[in-house]
Amino acid sequence: MNASDVFVIGGGIVGLSIAWRATTRGLTVTLADPDPGSQATRASAGMLAPVSEVTYTEEPLLRLGLASLERWPAFAGELEAAGGIPVDLRGDGTVEVAYDADDLAQLDELAVFEEKLGLRVERLTGRQCRQAEPMLSPNVRGGLLARDDLWVNPRRVAQALQQAFQNAGGRLVRERVTTLEGLPADHVVVAAGAWSPSLLPGLPIRPVKGQILRLRGPRGLLGTCVRGTVRGSEVYLVPRDDGEIVVGATMEELGFDTRVTAGGVYELLRDAREIVPGITELELAETFAGLRPGTPDNLPYVGRHGDVWVAAGHHRAGVLLAPLTADAVVAGLFGEADLMPECTPARI
Ligand SMILES: Cc1cc2nc3c(=O)[nH]c(=O)nc-3n(C[C@H](O)[C@H](O)[C@H](O)COP(=O)(O)OP(=O)(O)OC[C@H]3O[C@@H](n4cnc5c(N)ncnc54)[C@H](O)[C@@H]3O)c2cc1C
Repeated sequence: MNASDVFVIGGGIVGLSIAWRATTRGLTVTLADPDPGSQATRASAGMLAPVSEVTYTEEPLLRLGLASLERWPAFAGELEAAGGIPVDLRGDGTVEVAYDADDLAQLDELAVFEEKLGLRVERLTGRQCRQAEPMLSPNVRGGLLARDDLWVNPRRVAQALQQAFQNAGGRLVRERVTTLEGLPADHVVVAAGAWSPSLLPGLPIRPVKGQILRLRGPRGLLGTCVRGTVRGSEVYLVPRDDGEIVVGATMEELGFDTRVTAGGVYELLRDAREIVPGITELELAETFAGLRPGTPDNLPYVGRHGDVWVAAGHHRAGVLLAPLTADAVVAGLFGEADLMPECTPARI
């Protein structure tokens, strides 16, 4: 394949990862996005958590998540070296906690399912939860520890990807693409997240709104990523090295609405405070809402779709799945084996 024949539309974590990986395989690549890294990628908490995110009936997604998680340490290492920006990959596991007896029963059932799948989880009493994470409320009933989960700062990843892509000779065009007609490339990759159907009508991707908060306080308030079930509703707290704690996230089917609402912020803070009471002392540094690209079966579309390639619909797991998706698309461009056959757009 000769140079300058790949045109990537969309510079979220998915499009940027593909563009960077394609340049490192010797291709000349153009990526178009009016504001790279500004949408779902900017909202994301950055949990790389296939184990603690596992849900019944989503075993194909678990397989993909585990395969991509395995790639993350090398991906982050190469990216930091190529982009010159640390991406804060951390790996202290996730503590999943239950607030009341019903929440604990739900978590116990999940543990049985996770063990059946051969996943590494440890059951914790309330006291053991607090030993793992001393800031947890004395009311926490019990929980699980998923040791293999990691997390990363997606905003840093997006910055590093832009830098690494351009350092490797990639061309970044800050423009919106309005039509697929006449793009100057042999291969076009549509990676425009929730906006992909505007270029590929009929692609069943819908926006799923997520409101998320960023709190700021002293470094090291939380040592691990915490997920809680509080009276049936879910909340998570993700600590960053600089003292930021990300609290997320709502799931709302409201079309292209990105308003932050009083109710959304209230519910997140209410539930987060039940499991980590100390957060009320922190500064509320940012509120934000992003649009996850959802699909009917919660699996992304990755592969050939008519005349173009598509890599979109990563819903709740686009950060986790970015390294595998990038490798899968680049392998496809070179006619190599399909790394994500479950995600073929042929199932539409
Ligand atoms: C609140 C929240 C929390 C999340 N937490 C996690 C998490 O912890 N872990 C995880 O793995 N995932 C998480 N996700 C999901 C993850 O953020 C997404 O799956 C991922 O960002 C999707 O990446 P993307 O590149 O496909 O889309 P986006 O990041 O939305 O990027 C799409 C890009 O396409 C561009 N674009 C759109 N139309 C055009 C056009 N016509 N021409 C050119 N460019 C265009 C946009 O400007 C944008 O930059 C979360 C999402 C939300 C909203």
